[in-house]
Amino acid sequence: MKKGSKEWIRADRAHAWHPFTDQEEWESSDPLVIVRGEGCWLIDSEGRRYLDANSSIWTNIHGHGHPRIVAVIQKQAATLCHSSYLGFANDKASELAERLCGFFADEALPRCFFSDDGSTALEVALKMSLQWCQQNGREEREGIIAFDHAYHGDTLGASSVGGVSRFIKGYGESGLSTFRVAGMEDLKTLPEVVVKAASAVVIEPLIQGVNQMRPWPKGMLKELREWCGANEVHLIFDEVMTGFGRTGTMFACQQEEVVPDFLCLAKGLTGGTMPLAATLTTKEIYEGFKGEPERNFYYGHSYTGNPLGCAAALASLDVFEETGVLGDVEEKGAYLEKGLAKFSQITEIRRVGLVLGMDIEGDGKEFCEALKEYQVLTRPILNTIVLMPPLSVTKNELDHLLGAIEKVLSKN
Ligand SMILES: *Cc1c(COP(=O)(O)O)cnc(C)c1O
Repeated sequence: MKKGSKEWIRADRAHAWHPFTDQEEWESSDPLVIVRGEGCWLIDSEGRRYLDANSSIWTNIHGHGHPRIVAVIQKQAATLCHSSYLGFANDKASELAERLCGFFADEALPRCFFSDDGSTALEVALKMSLQWCQQNGREEREGIIAFDHAYHGDTLGASSVGGVSRFIKGYGESGLSTFRVAGMEDLKTLPEVVVKAASAVVIEPLIQGVNQMRPWPKGMLKELREWCGANEVHLIFDEVMTGFGRTGTMFACQQEEVVPDFLCLAKGLTGGTMPLAATLTTKEIYEGFKGEPERNFYYGHSYTGNPLGCAAALASLDVFEETGVLGDVEEKGAYLEKGLAKFSQITEIRRVGLVLGMDIEGDGKEFCEALKEYQVLTRPILNTIVLMPPLSVTKNELDHLLGAIEKVLSKN
C-alpha cells in the first residue's frame, strides 16, 4: 500500500497522542505531516515548504540536514548506535564530556552527567543537589527554591519546580517541596527557616522561555550567585533553551560571567538532531558522592551516554567552530527586531540574541495558523509569537519571515 498524507493523518488520528495537545480539537484538525528538512526549511507530505521559525521547538541550531552532522551520524550509526554506559565507557561520550567541561575555565565545571532530555537534565541536577546535602552535613536542606512562571520540564521532579500553573495542576503536590519567589528582591526577603531548608535555587538564566520570553534584569545572575554563596544554597542554571548560542554566547551564563553549581543542557546540544542531555557540575559536588556505596548517585537511563547522540553533539560543536556562526547571532537578532519594530500592531517585543517574543493583541494560535499560509511555522505562547529560527538563518530567510508577518498583520 502506498502511503500518503491522508493515510498518515488517518493513522495519527486513530492511534497517536500528542504532547500538550487538546486531542479532541486535534482529531478534527488537518495537521501538517512533516517529512523532510533542508536548512531552515521544513517540507510537508504535500511538498510545501515552511520556514522553521521556532527551530522545531527550540532545538535546531545549524539547520536541518546539515551535511557535516548528517555524515557523522551516518558513520556513527554504522559503527556503533548504542552500548551501555553502565559499566562501560564509549569513545564519543568521553570526547564530548571533556569538550563540554572545557567551555569553563579553571576546571570550574569538570564533571558531566549524561541523560536524554531537558527534563532529565534537571532531574539529575535536583537529585544531585538534594542527595549531596543529605550526605554532606546539610541534612535539613530538603527543598528547592524556584521562580514564578518558570519552566523546567515535565517529569515529576522537574514539573514540580515549574511555575506555570496550567502545566502543574493535578500533580503539583506530589513532586519536590518547592518555595516559589518572584525575583531577586523576593528571594532576599525569604524567612531564614525557608532559606535553611533549601538545597538549591533553580533558574532559567537571562530569559524565561515558556513565560512568554521574559528577560531577567541585567546583573541578576551575579547577584544570585553571591546570594547562593552566602547562604550555602546550590545554584542550578537551566540552559536547556538558552544553551548553544541562542542568546549570542555559547551559554547564557557567560554573559554575566557567572558559573553555577549545576548547568543543565539539552535541546540544542546535538544541533537539534538527536535527544541528548548533559548536567555539568563542580568538583565539590562530585567528591561528595564518594565513600560508602550508599553515597553513590543511583540514577541513569537505558540510553545514557548514547554514542549516536554524543557524535552528533561533537559534530555540532565542530560546526560552531568552523562557521563562526555565534558571532552573527546578535546582528541577526537585531535585524529581526528592527524589522518588527515598524508594525504598530505588535504591542511589545522582548529579545535576547536570536530568542524573540512578540506580543500581539489578537489570538496567538490564530496568528500562527495564518503564518502557515505564508510558509512560516512557529507556535505561540498565549498572545506571544515566538521567533527563534536556527542560528544559521540567512538575511533572506529573515526577510521571508518579516514579509509573512506583515501579510498576516495587514489582514487583521
Ligand atoms: C524545553 C525545556 C525544558 C525541558 O526539556 P525537554 O527536552 O522538553 O524535556 C526544560 N527547561 C527549559 C528552560 C526548556 O526550555
